[in-house]
Amino acid sequence: MSVAIGIDLGTTNTVVASVSGGEAFTLTYGDGQRLIPSVVSFHPSGQVLVGQKAVERRFVDSENTIFSVKRLIGRAWETDDVQRARVRLPFRLVEGMKHEVLVTARGEELTLPEISAFVLRHAKAVAEEALGETVEQAVITVPANFNDLQRAATKAAGKLAGLEVLRILNEPTAAALAYGQGQFLDEGKGRPKDERVAIYDLGGGTFDVTILDLAGNVFEVLSTAGDTALGGDDIDQLIADRMADELLKLHRIDARAHPPVYGALRVAAERLKCELSTRDEYTIDLRTIGYAERGEEIPFNFRMTRPELEWASVGLLDRTLEVCGLALQRAHLNVTDIDHILLVGGCTRMPLVSRKVEQLFKKAPLLKVNPDEVVALGAAIQSSALARRRTRASMVVPSDVPEAPVDEPSIRTDSLVPLPAGAEPLELDEPKSRSSRSPGSQSKQPLPASTAIAPVIPKAPAVPTGMPGAAAIAQIPLRTQAVRVPSAGVLRAAAPLLIDVTPLSLHVETAGGFADRLIETNTPVPCDRTRVFSTASDFQTKVTIRVAQGEKPRFDDNTYLGEVELSGIEPRPRGNVQIAVTFELDADGILNVRARDESRGVEATARLQPFATQHEPDELARMRQRQVRYGVVG
Ligand code: AMP
Repeated sequence: MSVAIGIDLGTTNTVVASVSGGEAFTLTYGDGQRLIPSVVSFHPSGQVLVGQKAVERRFVDSENTIFSVKRLIGRAWETDDVQRARVRLPFRLVEGMKHEVLVTARGEELTLPEISAFVLRHAKAVAEEALGETVEQAVITVPANFNDLQRAATKAAGKLAGLEVLRILNEPTAAALAYGQGQFLDEGKGRPKDERVAIYDLGGGTFDVTILDLAGNVFEVLSTAGDTALGGDDIDQLIADRMADELLKLHRIDARAHPPVYGALRVAAERLKCELSTRDEYTIDLRTIGYAERGEEIPFNFRMTRPELEWASVGLLDRTLEVCGLALQRAHLNVTDIDHILLVGGCTRMPLVSRKVEQLFKKAPLLKVNPDEVVALGAAIQSSALARRRTRASMVVPSDVPEAPVDEPSIRTDSLVPLPAGAEPLELDEPKSRSSRSPGSQSKQPLPASTAIAPVIPKAPAVPTGMPGAAAIAQIPLRTQAVRVPSAGVLRAAAPLLIDVTPLSLHVETAGGFADRLIETNTPVPCDRTRVFSTASDFQTKVTIRVAQGEKPRFDDNTYLGEVELSGIEPRPRGNVQIAVTFELDADGILNVRARDESRGVEATARLQPFATQHEPDELARMRQRQVRYGVVG
């Protein structure tokens, strides 16, 4: 019998949980450790060390010890975040053929999903050891504002690790699920009919805030906002920079010019930050940071007080409050409309975070569940529910017995949106050369006029957004499901209905380089939207639909996801061929695009996953071989 698990694949740490006997619990390893450092080190022996063993190698083998992958996964090489990381990280990043980020270790170039796959393989092994059973299925969580590429790359990592990824679930939704299941929100007073909950999630590399509406057993995401490049790592860097300044001043050692020394300062800085969550001041001994000319240790200690740390990090935390304001605005709510604030992510242990959150929301956040574990627990609940549904669905039903009703996700089946009377369709033109664009890259080339897609007014509207009923992710109620949280004992509740939303709008490119929105931010998923376009040139036989995700009006300022080419269309005078473009967003938030020539019925489909499943078969085979070749040691 195989078990389905929940995995919180964090920037800094990964946590695994599972459901058994109606209770969700975090799985431990070693002496009861729950956090698996998301660090992978390539040992000279050919083995891959993962977790705590890899952390130890950060000091001695920083060039072959990879961390913070979540900050880079699914990002294109030329983005600012990648370029900044490239300078800062002690291991080498290089650009791949598709403008994706590769890491080098021991002379080999590896994709980021491969690195995450090593962490996931170790997480799977930890779960199998703890449960004494094989693990084949998992729900993996991602920050709510991860885009299509980041989600797809995470899913690819799961597959490479030998897991069937049942769902890519948003971290705040998972947290709400764990809290909701545990009935922490009502504390036995009987839950009010409708509560609004803000989930403030500050991890190592990302920040996001999500506002949910909890009505009975229905969890509906009202809005989400975030910053995928803001987290505890930034605070570590601020501290490490101070340490580096002092090291330079006192001992004339330039840590920034020596990646291994700077790497060691980063590790020390993180330790200092964590210690200052429970102490007023802390002095870290850095004598082993280097050796003086005659080989003696450098006498270097670094002392910091909590007020000093708070003073250094307040600017970063204020940025998180601005993002909270945006989430409230998107949900059309005021701070006073929020009933509870939940804290998620290791960094929320900093006392300043609670104070800042309280200052904004005018109420203290709930601190009942270990913020490191709550996401994995929620993922485990979802995983167990989905696995049970799979099992039910695969059961053989005798033909004369009516099938028991199964709550399947209700997927919208909107067909074409008819053009309003008198409206002309949007225009598509012939595809231009693919060479100027690679998936994930953001081309700065203006569109040549001859290849533009021109919106025509009045425009055919997309299907209106916000249809929660139709977009719900329904689950079989789990009568005995429960969450066990260390401080709170065992609690029981039925599995709720989850209604998640897409964090970013999805567009096609139109004439003049504008982004034409087909799916709005905060639309419940899964969903689909169709809009009809027309050809822009006479006797055109091909069209290209270019797709991007983001909120900017200019197409090129958003994240380019890829393109779909439809050939074999009927050669007719311009405007006389209608092309229906459909965006389908699945429950994982991953996009599928279809283009159809309405008169001929020719259709083209593409899953826009350039860094993930769209790897060429030989590339995929190489990645799989490497996974097999490297033994993982945790
Ligand atoms: P996560 O991405 O949720 O695993 O969170 C990891 C981040 O939380 C890292 O930046 C850690 O340094 C930080 N963190 C973990 N424990 C603490 C603590 N006790 N105080 C402050 N930050 C912490």
